[in-house]
Amino acid sequence: MIDTLRGLWYDAVQIAEGSSLGKTLARALPGKTLLLTAVLAIAGLAALATQPGSAEQRAKDLFGAKKLPALAAAQSIGFYSKGCFSGGVALPMDGRHWEVMRPSRNRRWGHPAMIALIEKLSRDAAADGWPGLLIGDISQPRGGPMLTGHASHQIGLDADIWLTPMPDRKLSAEERENISATLMVDEKTHLVKDGLWTPMHTRLLKRAASYPEVERILVNPGIKKKLCDTVKGDRSWLRKVRPFWGHDYHFHIRIGCQAGSPDCKAQEATAPSDGCDQALAWWFTEEPWRPNKNPDKPKARDLMTMANLPRQCQFVLDAPAPPSAEAVTYYGDGVPIAAVPAPAAESSPPPTVAAGAAALPASANAFVATPEIGIPLPRPRPGH
Ligand SMILES: [Zn+2]
Repeated sequence: MIDTLRGLWYDAVQIAEGSSLGKTLARALPGKTLLLTAVLAIAGLAALATQPGSAEQRAKDLFGAKKLPALAAAQSIGFYSKGCFSGGVALPMDGRHWEVMRPSRNRRWGHPAMIALIEKLSRDAAADGWPGLLIGDISQPRGGPMLTGHASHQIGLDADIWLTPMPDRKLSAEERENISATLMVDEKTHLVKDGLWTPMHTRLLKRAASYPEVERILVNPGIKKKLCDTVKGDRSWLRKVRPFWGHDYHFHIRIGCQAGSPDCKAQEATAPSDGCDQALAWWFTEEPWRPNKNPDKPKARDLMTMANLPRQCQFVLDAPAPPSAEAVTYYGDGVPIAAVPAPAAESSPPPTVAAGAAALPASANAFVATPEIGIPLPRPRPGH
């Protein structure tokens, strides 16, 4: 039975990847009518699933349904709140210094430069004394608008990181879905709650802001105020830390458009000041917190169709997928699993390259060739 399932799955992969349908069916034929029927059913489903979305369909439904990235060179297309990306890689569920939270959302995907940066931050923060990162949403496999939450996070260059330190153990799948983060800010005063903010939090944000590719870090206004009131010495990095609604249990890192993405739309540069002036004072007036007069008005991401997104996003949506998430998962120090040699090489040290997008091996940036990892076996997908 297992073998039958494997064969079936393999056939479905072959069909989905466009190899000879006839050959596949011929293999399935001898005396396996039931199997053939099943193969045809799966082929039909695959065909349905790969039909281009009509311009009227909501983009969030189309992008939200994608389980795997677009197999192509890494490229961000459009703007943070209106775009998509190809060549995405996944952050592994666990690293030495991080754990992915809310895995059922399948939002641990990003541009390779973003994923490399998170890995680097996790190492640097650990060296600074932070116990490890709890990783929130990055992007959907192909980006695009999301079914829930976030206006941005669409081009693989945004990531949310919890302000709760990683516990000293591996969280169970259930805990990752259900554990609550610590709310750092009092909802009435919009100030950081007494005793919750520590110098380690400041150090973590300073570390994140230290990377040249990080253009902005979004935090709650209360957290920005805390930094404005307490950071001594070098305050130049405060320029990147911007107050925004929410962001009271996590901070949001945004990196700039990366090389190889000519259609990525850059955001405005931040003002050169530390931002601890009137712009911050505004957040402590009543104006930003007035109740929404029209709470039922649909959000932009709820209305966006494919026609509203850059044209290339249709190609991203229609592009083939890699054989599995594992094939495009970024493992340690810049080496995706597809590039890791067989475990036999125990005596030689594991391959390492300096982290950072520039040092990524080509295989992490462009999954153009199907990685030679044999026939993938069916595995439970996150969220099922
Ligand atoms: Zn965010």
